Amino acid sequence: MTTRVYNFNPGPAALPLPVLERVRDELLDYKGTGMSVMEMSHRSQEFSRILEEAIARIKRLLKLDDRFQVLFLQGGASLQFCMVPMNLALTGKPIDYIDTGTWSSKAIQEAKILGKDVRVIASSEDKEYSYIPGNFSVDEDASYLHITSNNTIRGTQWKSFPNTGGIPLVADMSSDIFSRVFDPSPFGLIYAGAQKNAGPAGVTIVIIRKDMLERVPPELPTMLKYTTYAEKNSLYNTPPCFAIYVVGLVMEWLEEEIGGLEKMEAINRSKAEMLYSCIDEIEMYRGTAHPDSRSMMNVTFRLPTPELEKKFVEEAAQRGLVGLKGHRSVGGCRASLYNAVPVEAVEKLVEFMREFARNN
Ligand code: PMP
Repeated sequence: MTTRVYNFNPGPAALPLPVLERVRDELLDYKGTGMSVMEMSHRSQEFSRILEEAIARIKRLLKLDDRFQVLFLQGGASLQFCMVPMNLALTGKPIDYIDTGTWSSKAIQEAKILGKDVRVIASSEDKEYSYIPGNFSVDEDASYLHITSNNTIRGTQWKSFPNTGGIPLVADMSSDIFSRVFDPSPFGLIYAGAQKNAGPAGVTIVIIRKDMLERVPPELPTMLKYTTYAEKNSLYNTPPCFAIYVVGLVMEWLEEEIGGLEKMEAINRSKAEMLYSCIDEIEMYRGTAHPDSRSMMNVTFRLPTPELEKKFVEEAAQRGLVGLKGHRSVGGCRASLYNAVPVEAVEKLVEFMREFARNN
């Protein structure tokens, strides 16, 4: 018997159990090929089907029409911090950013390293990134506006996306893609490392509106140009085949077992509400994000002292509730409630939190 824990890791994170079971069952002999997906040619018919199906499912789930193309890259979301400005910045037009924490700041930093004209039009740094800024205006001369849709470390999330009046929106959706429904039409590009809501580490999903490809400067190195991936359907070189296969299975689980993103969002909302009400109700816990900006994916909270936080994380782990330590840069506690974290895990966590508060 294998023992599975209640996994609240921030990423890499929990994967749906039925997906892991499929991977196990298909590991030695994928659909009668006599080999694993790890062992087959990326140019084989089988892999081509895996790739096409993963793309089709992503497009259906996110309701992407033919204006958009789905690409699979490597280098993590972090490579996108520089690839996006390299490819999409327009000469003489600054790039607007909204700084909502570590990952936005890193994206800004990379654009600056490239010598791009960067404008930070809003930031929540003044209050330790505990909220999503509301008062800002996007200039008509911007190349695009970059935001981080969910701030994995600070536990904040955009509830609705800013109105950019036609300026393309670019979003790092690494920690909340596929967790909720949204309208893709204002987006010029969306990127996400797969390792939270979409699959294993090693593949980055990039969704690009095709007209943005016209911006790609021809002099960029081949592997750093979106056009390379777009023209060759992510098969210019060997893609991360196995990771793409697992992403496809996660998408299948979302479509066929969960029933789409409306349903997934409702489940995610109820998980987050359960945990936030426990935090609000019990004196010992204090949520760190402003209530209007609270993330459904990463719930960040503090206990009265770092010693108690350490004890909390340790005792939780003894009960099979793992991954509750806050990011090393901010301390505290964090429960990541990605799609694959079942309602039952949150129920067990809340039960433990009540008990811990009574006993300490
Ligand atoms: N953006 C966000 C919002 C993240 O949460 C992370 C990883 N935690 C990253 C970017 C960096 O991703 P990667 O490790 O894939 O480069």
